[in-house]
Order: sequence, then C-alpha cells, then structure tokens
Amino acid sequence: MSYFSINDRFKQHGLMIVISSPSGAGKSTLSRLLWKDKRMNLALSVSITTRERRPSEVEGIHYYFISMKEFEHLRDNDKLIEWAEVHGNYYATLRTVVTELLEKGQDMLFDIDYQGVDQLQKQMPYDIISIFILPPSMKELKSRLHCRAEDSEGAIKTRLENSRIEIQYWQTYDYILINKSIDKSLEAIASIIIAERLKRQRQPGLKKFIDDLMDEGS
Ligand code: 5GP
Repeated sequence: MSYFSINDRFKQHGLMIVISSPSGAGKSTLSRLLWKDKRMNLALSVSITTRERRPSEVEGIHYYFISMKEFEHLRDNDKLIEWAEVHGNYYATLRTVVTELLEKGQDMLFDIDYQGVDQLQKQMPYDIISIFILPPSMKELKSRLHCRAEDSEGAIKTRLENSRIEIQYWQTYDYILINKSIDKSLEAIASIIIAERLKRQRQPGLKKFIDDLMDEGS
C-alpha cells in the first residue's frame, strides 16, 4: 500500500525527484533508502557511467558501467535524456527507460548532478522536484569521503575541490536539506514527496471526483 492510495487514481505523468549533493554528503544512501521503502513507491533511475566500478558496486544496481566509445555512441544517437562530465568521468540517464516509466505514471528518483538537473528542468519543468543535500560541515564531508575508503587520494581531492563548485548551484533547487542525520533527512524528503504528490495540479482527475462527490445524494 502506498502512502497515497486515496488519490492514486488521479495520477497521470510520473514525477521526477532529483537529488544532488557534493560527493559524500549522503545522497546515494538517502536515495537508496527511499527507493527501498515500498510505501514511497519510487523507481530508481540507474545511470550509465564511464567511471571505474568501485569494489562495492554492482553492475545494473549502482550504475551501468560502459566504455567512452559506448557513451559517445549513445550520446550522438540521442539516447540520453541528460548527460554530464563529473569529476573527469561521464554520467548519463538513458532516455527510453525513464520516459516509459514516467508515462506509466511511475514516480522516479534520480541521483544526478546540477548539470543534469538543469537539462531535465529545461525539458520537463513541470514534472521535476529538485532537492539539494548539504553536508553539516566541510570537515564532515572530508571525513565521510575518507571513511568510504573506495576512492584514491587523488579522487577524494578532486571531489572536495568540486564540492565548492557544486554547492554554488544550491539556488537552482526547490528544496535544500542539511544532512545532519540520515533518519531526519529521510523523513524530510518523504514529506516533500508526499506534499508534491498532493498538489492540485498533479491530480488531474480531481475535478471529476469532486463533481461526483457533489452529485452524491443530491
Ligand atoms: P559517483 O562517481 O560518486 O557515483 O558520482 C559522482 C557524481 O555524478 C554525483 O554527483 C552524482 O550525482 C553524479 N551522477 C551520477 N549519475 C549521474 C547521471 O546520470 N547524470 C548526471 N548528470 N550526474 C550523475
């Protein structure tokens, strides 16, 4: 049972919930926990990347790992709904999977950077909810990147430097969250999604429901 069964029948197009943050601020953990919560009924968009797979990552679950040649082929044949170069690697979202699910009314979660968000906002301005996650401090961000221990010192340095650029885009997002605790952040994101789903303009069948309601017993 989803949180929204009362109004589910009015849904048309799925929502795109995009979450961005500097590396290490917790967005991947948050998006996976949200996806695992069956009551939220969200599909997770699995990106493609030219980055090397980390030891803990699984093909098709965390990313589809592809070569630069494969990436260029997909990009040049308009198979990508958005793409960006991040930390020296290429990342992108495949067009077909996403549009099929959204057209079925499935809400989707995207863990993408500000460049990808900008491209999606331009293409589908009414269907996007954007959330930016900030770390509580730069010290904490650094410590989380080191704790993960899956990236080289060079990669960690690049990610820390890039975090200062990424944070500057905070004003292009609808919601800003400081991730002090995973539980509280999860609760906050769930509340955002619940409220956005209930917006009047996102419930196209409501007029008919209200007309029927008024006719009842009259
Ligand atoms: P990581 O290498 O740590 O998995 O991800 C690096 C950055 O790439 C993160 O900021 C993440 O949000 C971003 N990213 C992951 N997938 C995509 C994607 O499909 N498109 C874009 N634009 N960015 C992505």
